[in-house]
Amino acid sequence: MTGPLPVTLPPLRGELLSSWISRHADFYGVTPITMLRHRLPEAMSLTAIDLSLTKAQANQIVGMFGVSPRLVRRLSFAGVPKAAHRFIAKSPMQRCVRCTQADVSPPPVLRSALQGWRITCPHCGQLYQDKTNSDADQALSPYRAAARRGETLLNNHAERRVETWLSPLEIARLLLMRRIPWPPPRDGDLWRYRLLGAIVPDLDAILAKQTSFPYSPKHPILPLHIRPALLAGVAIIDRAGPPMLKMLEGHMMGDNKNRFVMATDHLVTPAIEWGPPQQFQLM
Ligand SMILES: [Zn+2]
Repeated sequence: MTGPLPVTLPPLRGELLSSWISRHADFYGVTPITMLRHRLPEAMSLTAIDLSLTKAQANQIVGMFGVSPRLVRRLSFAGVPKAAHRFIAKSPMQRCVRCTQADVSPPPVLRSALQGWRITCPHCGQLYQDKTNSDADQALSPYRAAARRGETLLNNHAERRVETWLSPLEIARLLLMRRIPWPPPRDGDLWRYRLLGAIVPDLDAILAKQTSFPYSPKHPILPLHIRPALLAGVAIIDRAGPPMLKMLEGHMMGDNKNRFVMATDHLVTPAIEWGPPQQFQLM
């Protein structure tokens, strides 16, 4: 193999690996996948490189660009736990008006633009915007502080593998499971109800205005205007401790409940045995 490319461009702050490679491709006048396969002939796609970069691939990229293996890994999502993969979008879905660089062509993609657990920009703290351009639902404003706490919990877990008694990404997914409301709704629209609504009751009213809600543990990336509800739900459960997970079981029935119990048992049982949960409080 030959040495590094004659000219290399420094990665931008928070830039995604595939974006950095694509900017080199643009510089050298080739397609991004040609650029990548120049040294990684077996590479499937740029997206795959971002999500599941192997050590061997990282080393080839290191050789190609003359940078450190640590830097290459930091640009990718190779270090995130498996549970985070579903929270990472395939293409940019949110942006910070303050940090978007309009003067760079092609426009770079920042890692944070794909992170489905964020509501604020990690570089300046500004609230993100997405295509819907609607502000966070007003009904969720009492949950703002909890949502920011949830964002930090999820981000620390995804990016630095920090854990408390729970895996926050796993909890976020579970909160999107269906729940049986009581009393049963008159309209019979059971598809609207999620476990999250048992913790953030204002969510039910927000979902009552929607004609569909295609989000679930499999598709957990919520649009920005309702994402604070999910982040707050995680923060509230984190503070309240395992009994709150136990309480959620009571809102489910049948197979759905069994799946929930199977998924939470390892969180609930040891935590109850080892220590008292913290006091429940919203803020
Ligand atoms: Zn920003």
